[in-house]
Amino acid sequence: MNECILLIVKPDGMVKGLAGHVLRRFEETDLKLVGARLARVTRELAATHYHHLRDKPFFDELIRFITGELHGGQDTVLAFAYTGEDAVSKGRAIAGATNPEEADYRSIRGSFGRVTTKGVFENVVHVSSDAIEGEREIKLWFSPDQVTADLFPAVVRDGRRQWTDPGGPKTRTGPWPEEKRPPRTRV
Ligand code: UDP
Ligand code: MG
Repeated sequence: MNECILLIVKPDGMVKGLAGHVLRRFEETDLKLVGARLARVTRELAATHYHHLRDKPFFDELIRFITGELHGGQDTVLAFAYTGEDAVSKGRAIAGATNPEEADYRSIRGSFGRVTTKGVFENVVHVSSDAIEGEREIKLWFSPDQVTADLFPAVVRDGRRQWTDPGGPKTRTGPWPEEKRPPRTRV
């Protein structure tokens, strides 16, 4: 199946000088590179990207990690959009399992990742976990003009091209942040 994925070289990968290695590994696949950008990771972007983990005990530390706070303020990451046949399984195989200690030692995470004493997996790369997440994440990190293929429908709004459905299809992993409603109060 043709799929789209977001690849991110996380702050640990950036400071360890692994961006070139990561890109090389993906260049060895038949996936097509359709977007590349040096992105500043604000806390807002981080929280939206990882919204499905907001209730986890490691969430705050994860946000500190992805915004670069744990790596000398490395607040820029390299983000890439790829498309192609079975992009999710190909990308996830190169990345390796989420926990670097359980990842195949030939994978990027198995080779270069580590688990911090606070329990955060510093695992060098992000790769979308499925095609639905791939769509949501590419729409979050790239505007239509920043990708070189017509990946998803776009419209001109307020004089610039924007994704028609920015959130993409709903994930199975929970509501979007803006759908969180305050607890009901009795009247
Ligand atoms: N993570 C962590 N501890 C966990 C699970 C996840 O530190 O027990 C971090 C890790 O950096 C991971 C990210 O949160 O890459 C996102 O988690 P997810 O379950 O989406 O894993 P991924 O899709 O990145 O393999
Ligand atoms: Mg994931």
